[in-house]
Amino acid sequence: MNFEPTTEQKILREAVGRFVAKNCPLNDVRRWDRDGEFPEAVHRAMAEAGYPAMMVPEAYGGLGSPMSDCVIVYEELARPSVDFATRLALISWGSMILADFASEELKQEILPRVVSGDVKLSFSLTEPNSGSDAASLQTRARKDGDDWVLTGQKLFSSGSDAKDNMIIVAVRTDPSAPKHRGISLFLVPNDAPNLTIRRLETVGRKIVGLNEIFFDEVRVPQRYLIGEVNQGWKYVTRHLERERITLAANYLGSATSAVNDAVAYAREREQFGQPIGSFQSIAHMLADMATELEAARWMTAMAAWRYDQKLPCAKEASMAKLFVSEMLGRVTSMGMQILGGHAYTTDHDMQRHWRDARNATVGGGTSQVQRSLIAREIGL
Ligand SMILES: Cc1cc2nc3c(=O)[nH]c(=O)nc-3n(C[C@H](O)[C@H](O)[C@H](O)COP(=O)(O)OP(=O)(O)OC[C@H]3O[C@@H](n4cnc5c(N)ncnc54)[C@H](O)[C@@H]3O)c2cc1C
Repeated sequence: MNFEPTTEQKILREAVGRFVAKNCPLNDVRRWDRDGEFPEAVHRAMAEAGYPAMMVPEAYGGLGSPMSDCVIVYEELARPSVDFATRLALISWGSMILADFASEELKQEILPRVVSGDVKLSFSLTEPNSGSDAASLQTRARKDGDDWVLTGQKLFSSGSDAKDNMIIVAVRTDPSAPKHRGISLFLVPNDAPNLTIRRLETVGRKIVGLNEIFFDEVRVPQRYLIGEVNQGWKYVTRHLERERITLAANYLGSATSAVNDAVAYAREREQFGQPIGSFQSIAHMLADMATELEAARWMTAMAAWRYDQKLPCAKEASMAKLFVSEMLGRVTSMGMQILGGHAYTTDHDMQRHWRDARNATVGGGTSQVQRSLIAREIGL
């Protein structure tokens, strides 16, 4: 097992770094965060660079890249903002679900348009009364002629209000079946008649945005059923390990920036006639932050490597998600402490990384849920 990056991976990382420097200057990222705006032009540039293509199989115009390459892209795009980078993560998750489970007809219809940047994807499982207990969802779909008709409400749906977005929605299709066995996945255009999306006001993650969605008899054609009816929960659970590795990579990018910014500040800021980084208490905080970051990097690389090798990786994916998300919370919190009162102003990016990090231990399965999954994997 060798996690040293190959020459191609080093070139890929440098290329994404150049992409970020050109397309995501920090002043623009601050404005997107302040205005709750997702930059459509940068999405187009991402498509031209081939990033949405990475998780799409070659048969549909994609690149079919290994996870070990994808995590490099997710991490580097999250350097300026984990929030911004979530957009590509959402598209990748949606593409992987469609590639694995959708009918040939649906794959041919949607995946080439994901590659070209003409379609974005998002994923909507959570409801007001079903969060960690996601399988207890109550949004319904009933068959009506050749269509399905959806009724209910989704909550905390990232990025679903974006231009040209299609939402993968988990709904109950058999109310009489045990809760895990009566769920199906549908692809729903976000401009479908009778569908209403409302953006929530949030602490962070304002660029991609968080929404609630109301389905009031939303009609969806049969071909937008993903895979087989009542098999949706199986598809969701099979997909979660990939989601967790992707999330870990995203968090790593943001944490790297927080640590780098804190080191730079500690070298520059002087109190009592010396840089604050020369005080042992500050230096040790930074040493802890750098150590945690390094551990997170190897855990993420290990989970991605196992995924590519087709080895079991549910435990490693949950461990990476758990550790990296909690690490991001710790390093951004320590970063806020190191920048003192200046961190509390919007002049510095640390508060943005800290605000966006707050969700990391909740979204994609909370830390408590990850610990329960890991406990099960180790035989408890
Ligand atoms: C920024 C953000 C983006 C999101 N994006 C999406 C998205 O795109 N699509 C989507 O479908 N969802 C999304 N979510 C929803 C997210 O997955 C849920 O918030 C998460 O699963 C937790 O559900 P909940 O918020 O209802 O909390 P609850 O499930 O009500 O949990 C509340 C607390 O109880 C704990 N708890 C619950 N059950 C247990 C248990 N069995 N054992 C121990 N502790 C437990 C939890 O860990 C938590 O601390 C997003 C959430 C956020 C905040």
